[in-house]
Amino acid sequence: MAEVYVGTKFQTIFVRKTPPTDASTGALLAWCRQWAQAGWIAKATGNLSFRTGGGFIITPTGTDPVTLTINDFVEVIGVDEKEVRVAGTREPSSECRMHAAIYAARPDVNAVFHGHYAPALQLTSVAITTHEVPYGTPAMATETVQALGAGNFVVMRGHGFVAVGLAMRAAHAAAVEVLARL
Ligand SMILES: [Zn+2]
Repeated sequence: MAEVYVGTKFQTIFVRKTPPTDASTGALLAWCRQWAQAGWIAKATGNLSFRTGGGFIITPTGTDPVTLTINDFVEVIGVDEKEVRVAGTREPSSECRMHAAIYAARPDVNAVFHGHYAPALQLTSVAITTHEVPYGTPAMATETVQALGAGNFVVMRGHGFVAVGLAMRAAHAAAVEVLARL
């Protein structure tokens, strides 16, 4: 949690400058509002996504979830070492690299919800990443995928948590199942 947010750590290439039209984007917005209310995401912390035919739709970077609108979401259609290719009008979440890595490793996962919640960092009975690494880096993506394994919840050491599922509702349920114990 000590690391200060400094924006995205990649170059965004806008393939199309139009907001995503996927019908499920409204549901993602509703989950963002609910997670903001729970205190699991806030301005510039936490990011939620769901898989699409061409990639995934994710929250934009550095936006307050309370004022977020459906047109702010960004479809990520390609990620490599330095660049992220998107369709949308905003820059994608700085942690979209981690979402891409989870979707690539887990064909059974169609939703990735990442939150920041200090009490979750004290959990010891769940999967947890081995090292504390800077956000938005390939190392963070690798660490998270490895620690998550075939599970549906992982704590990112010193940073936050990720819940995944077959659908958005399942990713939310995976978070509730663990965080309700705190
Ligand atoms: Zn984070």
